[in-house]
Amino acid sequence: MLDTIIFAGQVVLPTSNGRALRGTEMNELKIIDNGAVGIKDGLIAFVGSAEEAADLEAKETIDAAGKLLSPGLVDPHTHLVFGGSREHELALKQQGVPYLEILAQGGGILSTVRSTREASEEALYEKGLFHLNRCLTYGVTTMEAKSGYGLDKETELKQLRVAKKLNETHPIELVSTFLGAHAIPENYKGRPDAFLEEMLSMLPVISKEGLAEFVDIFCETGVFTVEQSKTFLQKAKTAGFGVKIHADEIDPLGGTEMACEIGAASADHLVGASKEGVRMLGESDTIAVLLPGTTFYLGKDHFAPARDMIASGAAVALSTDFNPGSSPTENLQFIMNLAALRLKMTPEEIWNAVTVNAAFAIGRGEAAGSLEVGRNADLVLWDVPNYKYIPYHYGVNHVNKVWKDGKLVAGKGDVHANYTLST
Ligand SMILES: [Zn+2]
Repeated sequence: MLDTIIFAGQVVLPTSNGRALRGTEMNELKIIDNGAVGIKDGLIAFVGSAEEAADLEAKETIDAAGKLLSPGLVDPHTHLVFGGSREHELALKQQGVPYLEILAQGGGILSTVRSTREASEEALYEKGLFHLNRCLTYGVTTMEAKSGYGLDKETELKQLRVAKKLNETHPIELVSTFLGAHAIPENYKGRPDAFLEEMLSMLPVISKEGLAEFVDIFCETGVFTVEQSKTFLQKAKTAGFGVKIHADEIDPLGGTEMACEIGAASADHLVGASKEGVRMLGESDTIAVLLPGTTFYLGKDHFAPARDMIASGAAVALSTDFNPGSSPTENLQFIMNLAALRLKMTPEEIWNAVTVNAAFAIGRGEAAGSLEVGRNADLVLWDVPNYKYIPYHYGVNHVNKVWKDGKLVAGKGDVHANYTLST
């Protein structure tokens, strides 16, 4: 006897083969019209056609004919835990005030660093919970969360501990990344190597307390060089962490190539990736995590070359890059729209990029991102007739219900999420 069986007009089944999907594989997506998914003890117990499911018994039957059922979405790149917000900077940006001037006035990332340092652990937790609840209502059941707004030992640890507590208490599974090397703080101005040493000295305690699985660095003009990033990430790898990199967001410095060389789990942004970088992605296991919401929000016209990457055989994932400066949104569905409109990705590629490939980018390829018997029952029921509809109908939330580990955690008129924004 199943606990629940859901009959849907269409079931979308991204399939992994034990690794991320690359190149033309990304355009393959299994679909069952008039399908059914059964849940028992928090796990998926049946996936098949409605016909095959007709004789199955369940305590609860959900008839969702005409709707779409999919795996829970995976968001593989977020800066979830931070203090404050930066809405006052929008007017300055509109007036054409350059980012560096905003930074010089104490704005930009430095303003978030200040707010995050000032906030108590409890306040950061409450605020993180608010945003996490919203992610859940948008269909995300697994996501990554980075530190990086402390830039000192105490605050970086505070952010990581908040992420750990959120993971323990909230339905969304959080995968934690240490991004102490996000920017160079005031007191280390002109001494980036000394700052990186300081951040590396934190790895033993992060490891001991189980505070992060990945280490990340912001490799960009004026922040950390490719050489500095390489040394830093190699040391993190030796210390037992998976590694990621914010690379080639603005200038083609060669961060993409370096990420492939050292076997990074993912290279993220890649708007300015060189031809050689794109070629190397096609031959390495490093996943290209693209963040078109950031390009959109920064008002730029040039987006990451997703089509070239897929043509080269690369594995592409998509993410919100949720953060208070360059991408303030929890809405991964909108990122799916942007991927269609600006990255020219097909609906099939887009679904694989927010499920299977996103899961592999954060070390959860065997657990999240697909509907297979025996896996955790992380499911989303959508108020749409088919999988092509979500990349098409933009700017709204199409979610009808969300299940995490077989439990209903969000739904229309029955949202378990608790909405309060206290910080
Ligand atoms: Zn980022």
